[in-house]
Amino acid sequence: MRVLVSGGAGYIGSVTAEVLLKSGHEVVVLDNLSRGHRAAVPTGATFAEGDVRRQDAVRQLLEDHRIECVMHFSASSLVGESMVDPGEYFGNNVVGVARLLEAMRHTGADRFIFSSTAATYGEPDEVPIREDSPVRPTNPYGESKAICERMLQWYESIHGIRFAALRYFNAAGASEEHGEDHEPETHLIPLALRAVSGEIVELQIFGRDYPTPDGTCVRDYIHVLDLADAHILALERLGDLGERFFNLGNGAGYSVLDVVQAVERVAGKPVPVKDAPRRPGDPARLVASADRARTVLGWNPQRAELDRIVGDAWAWKTRFPNGYAD
Ligand code: UDP
Repeated sequence: MRVLVSGGAGYIGSVTAEVLLKSGHEVVVLDNLSRGHRAAVPTGATFAEGDVRRQDAVRQLLEDHRIECVMHFSASSLVGESMVDPGEYFGNNVVGVARLLEAMRHTGADRFIFSSTAATYGEPDEVPIREDSPVRPTNPYGESKAICERMLQWYESIHGIRFAALRYFNAAGASEEHGEDHEPETHLIPLALRAVSGEIVELQIFGRDYPTPDGTCVRDYIHVLDLADAHILALERLGDLGERFFNLGNGAGYSVLDVVQAVERVAGKPVPVKDAPRRPGDPARLVASADRARTVLGWNPQRAELDRIVGDAWAWKTRFPNGYAD
């Protein structure tokens, strides 16, 4: 299928574009390179530099390449940043999807795979979280994605653009070629790897007073290649899917301290840490029930162990110590 990957120069987008190409699909990457890297665009993909909010240019791109499906990764995606700059989240994420859908509406692109997030659930009543749990975001990042999900429902019912919203839990790890290179970096695993390598003085532990077994936040880490596999399955099955919303996680919760220990095992060195206050907007525990993705999409994550996820992130970092260096 001919797929437009918006945000294909970013972390999850570039890995998914790589797997799409390997699965025989044609890929056009659209990225404004505000946070992505030109060097992350996989070989074999056509690259168009541009912003999803430029509706006319996007429509032209869709027509020129006779795109059948859009996978939309490009977004602002940091909980903490969204708590100080909500306008960035509504202006980029919500407006981005609105313009993209309008651009698609006049073309043959009638399939949409949306990068959504566990942050749509906020502080859940029950863990593991199922897709029918209430959507009650506790930060503007989650809110922006929840609004997009509702837009997608309207565009499907009114304009026939079929969609799947994939609610990622904590993406981590790397493929051999593509990994996580954010500036600034705010995510736990890459920062712990920087701390163990001596690139930063220490890893801050954001809160030890959460209602969790060791007091630190619990998350469900999912290998980025397993996420990519779920996108391919959603693409190939979108035509006859009875469901639209899918959690993508392993169903296993690991605390911040569990992750620190995994990094120490993988790197063979201690991670220097320092206690710090809670980060605003962080829920205590986010763990997925991904039963629906397993049964409806036939998804079967292959790289679930935390040490494998951390190990692949470490291998990529060791291979590319300067990341994409652009
Ligand atoms: N975290 C931390 N120190 C850091 C970065 C993150 O203690 O330097 C914690 C954060 O509070 C959260 C967990 O690690 O509970 C995962 O955070 P991350 O930013 O990686 O992903 P998020 O869950 O926000 O999407």
